[in-house]
Amino acid sequence: MIVSIDGRIVPPEQATISIFDRGFQHGDGLFETLRTWAGVAVTWPEHEARLRRSAATLRLPVAAAIEVHPAIEAAGGGDQRVKVIVTRGGRTIVIVEPLGPLPTEVSAAVVDLPLARRREGHKMLAYAENLIARDLAIAAGADEAIRLDADGFVAEGSSSNVFVVEGEDVLTPPAGNGLLPGITRGRVLGLGGRERRISVAELRAADEVFVTSAVRGVVAVTRLDGVARVPGPVTARIAGTYEGQIREQARSSVV
Ligand code: PLP
Repeated sequence: MIVSIDGRIVPPEQATISIFDRGFQHGDGLFETLRTWAGVAVTWPEHEARLRRSAATLRLPVAAAIEVHPAIEAAGGGDQRVKVIVTRGGRTIVIVEPLGPLPTEVSAAVVDLPLARRREGHKMLAYAENLIARDLAIAAGADEAIRLDADGFVAEGSSSNVFVVEGEDVLTPPAGNGLLPGITRGRVLGLGGRERRISVAELRAADEVFVTSAVRGVVAVTRLDGVARVPGPVTARIAGTYEGQIREQARSSVV
C-alpha cells in the first residue's frame, strides 16, 4: 500500500492527520474511489472534475494540484484501487492498494432508507448512511442496497448507480433526485443509456438490471429482493464495450 499526504509519500503507519481536522470530526470532506488499468488511472480526470465540482458547491477549498500519479507509480503499476480524500482541514490524501478480486455479479435488495430530498449527491466523507444501507441489504441476504429517492422512485445503490434494461432501452434514474452522478454511469449514458424515472415495480419487472461503479465497472444483478434473475445480453454488451473503451484508453494513454 502506498499513501501520500499533501503530495508526500509516507509509510502507512505514519500516515496520520489531526484529530481537529473537520474531515475527522464531522465527515466534512470529499473522496473519490477509482481504479487503475495496467497502471493507468484512465478515469482520474473525470473523478477530479466531479470532486472539484462538489467542492465548489460545498465551498470546500481544494489544492490546485492533486498528485495521484506519483503514488500510483510508487505502487508499481498493475491494477490498483485508488482513494483520494480531501478534508476541510486542508489535507489531501491518496491511498493506493492492490485491487483484489472483483465480483462478476451482484445480488441486490431494495432497502427502506430513502435519500434525503436534495438536488445532487456528493461523495462526502460522511458516508455512514451508505454503509447502513448496505448493512440493511446484507441483513436481507443481498450484497448491494438499492435506495429510493424522497418520492419513492429508484435512486441508486449504496455505492453504485442502478440501470434497468427494457427491450433495447437502457435506463437509469435522472440526476437531480439526490443521487450521486457516477463516473461509470456517465460513461454508460454515453454508450446509449438514458435517464428516466423508474418505479420499484418497473425495477422488478425489468428484463435486466445492472449496477455501475468505478471499481466494479458494470455488474449484472442476478438476484433482486430474493428473486433470481438471468444476467442478460444487453448488460454483457455494455460491460464489454465499457471495459474495451477503457482498456483502449489505457493502452493509448500518455499519463
Ligand atoms: N452512488 C454512490 C452513493 C456511490 O458511493 C458510488 C460510488 O462509490 C456510485 C454511485 C458510483 O459512482 P462511480 O461510478 O463514480 O464510482
